[in-house]
Amino acid sequence: MPAVVQNTPVSIPQPFIQELLARTDVVDVVGRYVELKKGGANFMGLCPFHGEKSPSFSVSPAKQFYHCFGCGKNGNAISFLMDHAGLGFVEAVQDLAQRVGLQVPDDDVSPQEKERAAAARQKQATLTDVLEKAADAYRRQLRESQRAIAYFKGRGVSGAVAKRYGLGYAHEGWRSLASVFAHYDDPLLEESGLVIVGEDGQDKRYDRFRDRVMFPIRNVKGECIGFGGRVLGDDKPKYLNSPETPVFHKGRELYGLFEARTAIREAGYALVTEGYMDVVALAQLGFPNAVATLGTACTPDHVQKLLRFTEAVVFSFDGDNAGRRAARKALDGALPHATDTRSIKFLFLPAEHDPDSFIRANGTDAFAKHVSEAMPLSRFLVEAASENCDLGTAEGRAHMASNARPLWTALPDGVLKRQMLSELADLTQLKAQDLADLWGEAAGRDAIRPSTAAAAGSAPRHTPAGYTDGPPPWAPQDADPWQPAGEPAPGGYATGYSKPPFRKSSGDWKPGKNWKNRDRDAPWPPQPRLPRTPTASRADHAARLLLSHMAFLDELTHDDHATLCAQAAPHGLLFSWLEAQFHEHGPLPWAVLRESLREHECEALALKVMTGSHAQTEGALQELQLELRDLLNRMQIEDIEAEQKVLMLQAAQDPTALERYRVLEQKRKVLRGVAAKAA
Ligand SMILES: [Zn+2]
Repeated sequence: MPAVVQNTPVSIPQPFIQELLARTDVVDVVGRYVELKKGGANFMGLCPFHGEKSPSFSVSPAKQFYHCFGCGKNGNAISFLMDHAGLGFVEAVQDLAQRVGLQVPDDDVSPQEKERAAAARQKQATLTDVLEKAADAYRRQLRESQRAIAYFKGRGVSGAVAKRYGLGYAHEGWRSLASVFAHYDDPLLEESGLVIVGEDGQDKRYDRFRDRVMFPIRNVKGECIGFGGRVLGDDKPKYLNSPETPVFHKGRELYGLFEARTAIREAGYALVTEGYMDVVALAQLGFPNAVATLGTACTPDHVQKLLRFTEAVVFSFDGDNAGRRAARKALDGALPHATDTRSIKFLFLPAEHDPDSFIRANGTDAFAKHVSEAMPLSRFLVEAASENCDLGTAEGRAHMASNARPLWTALPDGVLKRQMLSELADLTQLKAQDLADLWGEAAGRDAIRPSTAAAAGSAPRHTPAGYTDGPPPWAPQDADPWQPAGEPAPGGYATGYSKPPFRKSSGDWKPGKNWKNRDRDAPWPPQPRLPRTPTASRADHAARLLLSHMAFLDELTHDDHATLCAQAAPHGLLFSWLEAQFHEHGPLPWAVLRESLREHECEALALKVMTGSHAQTEGALQELQLELRDLLNRMQIEDIEAEQKVLMLQAAQDPTALERYRVLEQKRKVLRGVAAKAA
């Protein structure tokens, strides 16, 4: 991601977005990535979001909307670029604007900022141009080098795979690139990392990559942002990467992600390997869904980026000690993202193998079997914590608990985290509550309450004193069509809810013993009074929860994102903006968001929902999250019902409309079931 540009808060007025969407044809945009065929009023193709053999992905030129009847994915041209091409909101808007010749307005940015951003954008474009040109040259040079060709052939790489990954070769000479670029002393060559300038200056310029097979590293848009180079023999260093540049950040980029996107969706998971040769070899051997980190440990940024494309990740490591260490780092990177809906696993190959050699020795099926039996994150966490600890002694168990604490703390709140607490407590021969208390005390009561207290099973509240003059902030504040306006409940919840919805709204929640015991006397942070805000809508409330707990965005499904972004202005716009921020920066506190929102057209809305005493969203994260879940379910039900009305009208002419209606009806029933339970 071009960090320099994205760090500038950009606000894009809603009328501009409308104008942009009016001038853009979603069929063209989707058609850049998916082969579409006209079928009736719509265009059909193979869905790029799920693996399928017959087309159920439809693009409507009339509605400027795409929709998959298989997986339910839908949206407009902007969301397609975000979801399929992995662009941020602002990037997607800029991409479309550029194509239709519109200038994205950015009046709220100071002239200096604007200039800086434009210069940075220009610099990035120039750097990628330079790198693309070098990549072309390396590809040509590969065709001329029998040695390099022999190297790839020796590793079993076919011409087709070499082409797909744009593999190349850098000549032996010190200044081979002088024949590619007219001005070898152009500072851009140094800035792009292609040329190294010695300390004495001009005289000591030379190519960084010499006599190496070259792996161009592409960003999610497919632009070349750097290179990895491997020696053909046994020279050192074996692998050499481009340095950090304005377009290349090792800690954030994954080799092969651009090439693997579709395969990841089809396979249903991404395989993360240790090096580019693994990626290329795996693609050759029938696993085109592999990516690799770039000579760095796997970071949370890497994991987050990957999780935009799939909910399932398998990390594969060589069986040696270095592989084991790398796996441990990957565990650290993955923990914050290990939500209940995701699957994160670790595959350890036998000591002598990398994926390539393993498949050659044991075959594709054996590797696939290994992948399916990979170690779940939960087990690896326990193994990592128990390393060098003798669980047969109290000291060993105490040591294990101390190792486990930071790992467990890094997990997001949810069912997995609770289960891990029980499991770790069993291993230490403590009660889960005791372990949670211990860890809680060590961290300081206040600091840990949001995560630890929630996970320790203290989330459901008894009605605290003071909630006598209005509903709690998580109560729905507008009328529900299927929810009779309620009597004030004994606890003082004066809405349709007789109990706080978080009690039951998660179907698969199975509170254990500790949970119940804890329920009765859990301490609560002081809560301000919560006056009723009759005009607040669900969208307001969802905005409030997300602005105060941006990390919740990470837990949402694609449907949730679509629902939020499809809200009418200004809500939809605020959600899109927030998502773009999240994509670029990760979760930010409200104080930071508030600054970024200055003079943004969503500023008023954000301030409205975030100020006043009703804005308090304190309390256990778990319950706030369940509250958001409940809101989203209800919003989705409304959306479905609206779409169903339209489909009923179309059903007479279009048999697919009826089919779609039925699919939606199923979905609606499920959502209503959950919503009813919550109430
Ligand atoms: Zn689909």
